[in-house]
Amino acid sequence: MKSLIKNFLIFIIIFLILSGIFSLFSSETQKTQEIGLNTLISEIQQEKVQEITIEEDKIIIILNDNTHQFAFKELNEPLVELLTNYGITPEKIANIDIKVRSTRGRNTLINIIIPFVLPLLILVGLIYFFSRQVKGAGMQAFKFGESRVRKIEPKDKKIKTTFKDVAGIKEAKEDLEEVVDFLKNPKKYISLGAKIPKGVLLVGPPGCGKTLLARAVAGEANVPFFHISGSEFIEMFVGVGASRVRDLFVKAKKNLPAIVFVDELDAVGRQRGAGLGGSHDEREQTLNQILVELDGFDPNIGLVVLAASNRPDILDPALLRPGRFDRKVILDLPDIGDREEILKIHARGKPFASSVNLKQVGERTPGFTGADLENLLNEAAILTAKLNKKKIGMNEIFESIERVMLGPERKSHVLSKKEREIVAYHEAGHAIVAHLLSGCDPVQKVSIISRGRAAGYTLKMPEKEKSLRNKSEFLDNIASALGGYASEKMIFNSVTTGAADDLRQATKLTRKMVTEYGMSDILGPRTFGEKEELIFLGREISERRDYSEKIAELIDSEVSKIINTCFNKAQIILKKNRKKLNTIAKSLLKKESLEKAEFNKLMKT
Ligand code: ADP
Ligand code: MG
Ligand code: ZN
Repeated sequence: MKSLIKNFLIFIIIFLILSGIFSLFSSETQKTQEIGLNTLISEIQQEKVQEITIEEDKIIIILNDNTHQFAFKELNEPLVELLTNYGITPEKIANIDIKVRSTRGRNTLINIIIPFVLPLLILVGLIYFFSRQVKGAGMQAFKFGESRVRKIEPKDKKIKTTFKDVAGIKEAKEDLEEVVDFLKNPKKYISLGAKIPKGVLLVGPPGCGKTLLARAVAGEANVPFFHISGSEFIEMFVGVGASRVRDLFVKAKKNLPAIVFVDELDAVGRQRGAGLGGSHDEREQTLNQILVELDGFDPNIGLVVLAASNRPDILDPALLRPGRFDRKVILDLPDIGDREEILKIHARGKPFASSVNLKQVGERTPGFTGADLENLLNEAAILTAKLNKKKIGMNEIFESIERVMLGPERKSHVLSKKEREIVAYHEAGHAIVAHLLSGCDPVQKVSIISRGRAAGYTLKMPEKEKSLRNKSEFLDNIASALGGYASEKMIFNSVTTGAADDLRQATKLTRKMVTEYGMSDILGPRTFGEKEELIFLGREISERRDYSEKIAELIDSEVSKIINTCFNKAQIILKKNRKKLNTIAKSLLKKESLEKAEFNKLMKT
């Protein structure tokens, strides 16, 4: 719809330009000046007139000095009669070259053709523009069969992707080697009577390289790659999605061996019958068609269907049955080593200063996905260009890490002196509590430069990545999250809105401890509440209570108890270390940011 409006605007602009040019030309013909009959009479009296042409009621006059003029007379009054009536002598009239031009010829030409042709041209133009539009969007609905399949041929060297372009995710790559080998040497497997999996489901959080890996499989096996995204199936009319699936498989089967890749399978593959309203017919039909196609080909013809999803838990169980997507390949978030490898891949072709150490960058980016890391190096390159530097340095990279995590610095966000002081004590509170509790990750940086929504920030980074967290770590982290609040309260004897996010985070974490992780002694090892997903919106929006009102009260009181204990812990720590709190806050006010080394040094003194 947007591009429809855009094209219409373009059309209007072209039209305006054309009509502008047109009127420019037509005004050229009107450069002659209109005069009244009186003037004409007096000009004739003075013998200035050389030639007169009569066109119906228009008199075109050419003077001796070659000026062109025109005047009008009554249609049926002959000019000579008119002039005589005004008392001009026949001799004077005879001196003038009088021509009468028939307007009949011009009538047919201009008066007939222009009114017909011009609107016709405009109409044709309009139809042309709109048809381009319609081709773009609306017509899609009418081209039922065509799937918007993107095909990547193995010949396409420029966009060819191989396992070399994918760093980390070693297990996933190993799992897929088998698929590659089958596509390369099918006979080896068939002669042993082995059945190769038809469908492989790639599972992992967004941005961890599912799409990339699928393409790499095709690149390694040197087979064509048919790529379609689940969300593209959902169209205006019921049945379009299903016929697209059919078409997708027809195309792929003409190009065997091949890989079909259905990206974002969860868009169509959600559990059937779980939606709101009737609009899910389309999805269900599409899903059914996928199942039909998966069942419909022999496992050894050389077609492998890959699919990607970040929500395998919500997929329809029928998709995961044997003979369908029965293989799952899990893609994890990259760990420290993987991050370095991914950074190396995306560092290709970028000039780095010799001081840049990608290992260190990997250490500083826990929780980043491959896509985040790519984005990070891109941000660093842009920042370097902005600073007019030739090589990307470590400072630019560190700045970009924070930018990717927290949003860009807002230097223009000016705080008053008092506000700066509050922020400094707030952040110092977080940092000191985190530093002194062993369950918190080491403090990497404290800053009172506002970024994104935060007025200041304290970055904590794990030394080693952990996949399991225990109760005491949670408690320490809640205490450090409340450290900012505790510090404000202690120093200024009041609290500000700046702690709102901290409180929310602490509460959420505490609630999870109690209701999901079984970390409350009173409530014991069970979960409370069943998360239900409203499929229509694709988000967890309702939670079904599977416990009594009494338990609900107990949960609330338990959450409050844990939070208060943690808050007390933070307060005690800050009271004991009031001097250090002052030192760190003062230093923050002076320098705005403290890096890990500086911070640790101040904490030691
Ligand atoms: P997903 O499909 O899982 O959401 P993508 O495959 O689209 O993620 O990844 C987005 C981009 O992130 C890729 O184009 C690639 O540049 C980068 N990326 C992600 N994971 C990796 C990885 N393991 N190695 C190299 N680059 C990666
Ligand atoms: Mg993807
Ligand atoms: Zn805070």
